[in-house]
Amino acid sequence: MKFQVELILLALAPVFLLCILWEWRFWRRRGRAGVYDWRDSLCNACLALLHQGADKLAWLLAIPLYGWIYQHHRLFAFDGGWLSFFILFLGQDFLYYWFHRASHRVRWLWAAHSVHHSSTRMNFSTAFRQSLMYPVAGMWAFWLPLAWLGFPPEQVVAVVLLNLAFQFFVHTQAVPKLGWLEYVFNTPSIHRSHHARNPRYLDRNYAGVLVVWDRLFGSYVEELDSDPCEYGTVKPVNSFNPLWVSVAEWRDMLREAWRADNWRDRWTLLLGAPEAVAAIVKKQEP
Ligand SMILES: [Zn+2]
Ligand SMILES: [Zn+2]
Repeated sequence: MKFQVELILLALAPVFLLCILWEWRFWRRRGRAGVYDWRDSLCNACLALLHQGADKLAWLLAIPLYGWIYQHHRLFAFDGGWLSFFILFLGQDFLYYWFHRASHRVRWLWAAHSVHHSSTRMNFSTAFRQSLMYPVAGMWAFWLPLAWLGFPPEQVVAVVLLNLAFQFFVHTQAVPKLGWLEYVFNTPSIHRSHHARNPRYLDRNYAGVLVVWDRLFGSYVEELDSDPCEYGTVKPVNSFNPLWVSVAEWRDMLREAWRADNWRDRWTLLLGAPEAVAAIVKKQEP
């Protein structure tokens, strides 16, 4: 039977659940049971299942497109060995960095990605908090260059999912800074700052697996004890309903765009950066 790469995350589910159980006990023993809230974690788990369903559908449509580009327009022919897998991993992690950066700076993409940031808690279950709207936002388009470079669609999907699987492990407050690893990899400390809404940490640390991209492109920030992370989004969603959490930012975006009194503002509300969007929303307020 052919292994379906789309199921990588489901296959790893027992490992993820064991980590959550370990961390939950870890904080309970230290008198910080509040790191977990069962309503928040249940909402995260529902979001993970909804995301898995939507993603499976998206792959059904995206894989043939990747396949067409791979078959008819590929630039190189990679042999599928370790070196070619390493190049694929590097390429995908680089593209993930730009996907993630765009997801924070372009409203249309933020409408989906904000789901991941909308919890005010930070624990392993936060990694489950994904949007079912990523296929609509167009996440799949960011991996098209990999097929064009010459990587087969199944390998592209596998590396996208392995990157996401790695990121599960950076969603925790139980792991301190990790010495020299902080210079190379995305770590819990680096990703904690990414989830914080303190002005110092806002829109920084977009790394998937390697933090070198943040260091190269000027988006790296260090977590400081003097500025403890406050988790969540600047505009809180205040709900544990997974469906509402999934659509809240889309509703705000479309409503604001509808109300806009000119097309320039309308496009900015759909595709603009957070500062530009906030300026127009302020103008709309009565
Ligand atoms: Zn993010
Ligand atoms: Zn995260």
